[in-house]
Amino acid sequence: CGIIGIVSDAPVADRLVESLKRLEYRGYDSAGIATLEGGRMDRRRAEGKLRNLEALLLGQPLKGRIGIGHTRWATHGRPSVANAHPHATTQVAVVHNGIIENFRELREELGGTGCNFESETDTEVVAHLVSRELREGRTPADAVAATLPKLKGAFALAFLFDGDEDLMIGARRGSPLAVGYGDGEMFLGSDAIALAPFTDRIAYLDDGDWAVLHHDRADIRNAANRPVRREIQKTAATS
Ligand code: GLU
Repeated sequence: CGIIGIVSDAPVADRLVESLKRLEYRGYDSAGIATLEGGRMDRRRAEGKLRNLEALLLGQPLKGRIGIGHTRWATHGRPSVANAHPHATTQVAVVHNGIIENFRELREELGGTGCNFESETDTEVVAHLVSRELREGRTPADAVAATLPKLKGAFALAFLFDGDEDLMIGARRGSPLAVGYGDGEMFLGSDAIALAPFTDRIAYLDDGDWAVLHHDRADIRNAANRPVRREIQKTAATS
């Protein structure tokens, strides 16, 4: 239901949770974050209130400097840790707002290629689709570009890739997603409220856009894969 992503050179877990708290107003039944530490992906997920996730992180901290976070409002699959986002394979982690309407067909198609599904969500299929493209030798950006046209429904997505601490990809169709421009760090957020503590410079993605983020820039493409510029707006900072 809410998404936050941070590409930084300082640990991000606290700020991910802080941002998720600002998204609480949208309602949620579970929450989770994933970061990369020494290039390796790790995640923590908890059912119920954000304080459950905070308690988990207190005992088992995540120290990565790049990460994604999510508050979930279940549409497919009951609220549980296994169904909480981020969903991941060994190569990629994803958080998702919205509904992938053709997930059953896609799941079936993937079933033949030996994927192990861990959840009942519509979202997990996206991680496996991107993973399959990566295994076939595509770059993360090309893997996402090849996956997006296969998805039916509404989505805002944020991806993290194992082994690359300076890469995050966001995409939107039907659900909102914004890019935040920081000082040597970059952000993705499902709304301006999520980004307000970190930056007052925000570009809203147009429908069908997807963006490749590094710590110092965002390369945005439209649904036809053409590079585009989206106006950076100055918002009222409300930290
Ligand atoms: N459809 C996804 C799920 O049920 C995402 C729901 C949301 O937007 O939080 O897990």
